[in-house]
Amino acid sequence: MSLEDFDKYPLTFGPSPIHPLKRLSEHLGGKVALYAKREDCNSGLAFGGNKTRKLEYLIPEAIRGGYDTLVSIGGIQSNQTRQVAAVAAHLGMKCVLVQENWVNHDSEIYDKVGNIEMSRILGADVRLDDAGFDIGIRPSWQKAMEEVEARGGKPFPIPAGCSEHPLGGLGFAGFAEEVRQQEQALGLTFDYIVVCAVTGSTQAGMIAGFAADGRADRVIGIDASAAPEKTRAQVLRIAQKTAELVALGRPITDDDVVLDTRYGHPEYGLPNEGTLEAIRLCARLEGMLTDPVYEGKSMHGMIDMVRNGEFPEGSNILYVHLGGVPALSAYSDLFSAG
Ligand code: PLP
Repeated sequence: MSLEDFDKYPLTFGPSPIHPLKRLSEHLGGKVALYAKREDCNSGLAFGGNKTRKLEYLIPEAIRGGYDTLVSIGGIQSNQTRQVAAVAAHLGMKCVLVQENWVNHDSEIYDKVGNIEMSRILGADVRLDDAGFDIGIRPSWQKAMEEVEARGGKPFPIPAGCSEHPLGGLGFAGFAEEVRQQEQALGLTFDYIVVCAVTGSTQAGMIAGFAADGRADRVIGIDASAAPEKTRAQVLRIAQKTAELVALGRPITDDDVVLDTRYGHPEYGLPNEGTLEAIRLCARLEGMLTDPVYEGKSMHGMIDMVRNGEFPEGSNILYVHLGGVPALSAYSDLFSAG
């Protein structure tokens, strides 16, 4: 089988745009050319994001199987659950979301604004749960599914980040093919692809997809979980499974996984000084917003690596913006002075 043999339900606008980050490139010395691929505005469904691309490969199974309720899980400000809520509304399905206490925040509005506010507006049955950060399968999520069954519904399980779903890596395997076509149109090749990693299937899909042209280890994952052993193991496992699904023709090994662990601190969901500087710099030079949980950390990583001269001169670098901006209002305290 190859990727084309899997059913895909359209939820995005199509290929997400790529544009140069000219002012940021110049500001950082002009020795490398930075570009952004905008998964953060890939869909009209509640702003989209990386999960919307992954869901394109999960939803056919939900439709085929006659499931009537999408059940998913994430942190209180989960982007995943907001995207699942939007897809459920779009398809006329019900939606149950377990929102766990993944972040040690001290904001009074954290469970009221941003992603969770949007999920409520989208009509999801939002349930707060006290459990802390963990990217694995959780009892609260299984309980939510049992409750749907008990009331006669048919729950379709969508794990955190879509990552543990057997087809969770396919969306970003397809992303690699999309980039190859865009490279042809642009007349250039990206030497490095920078991407944020937490539950793992985004980077894993890219590794399987870019392995086809020898670029698996040019996908630079920036860990934002601050629990990188778990994230790395999950990236490797999902990349291996995805490579088999798309008949890559060679096994993915540990050497294919590049996960930079320098930028995730102090912990999941909380930024460091570098995260905040990167968010402001990118916003002020490019008008492109990033968030303190995910993309601010991968932006920090890319900026820092450019400043350190870690990319060879003349490199074309693709920053993949996976979304996350809807969480910004929950972090308003960080930016009250601009
Ligand atoms: N960026 C954003 C905005 C996200 O919502 C997520 C989700 O966890 C990620 C990055 C990380 O992607 P993944 O969980 O597939 O590693």
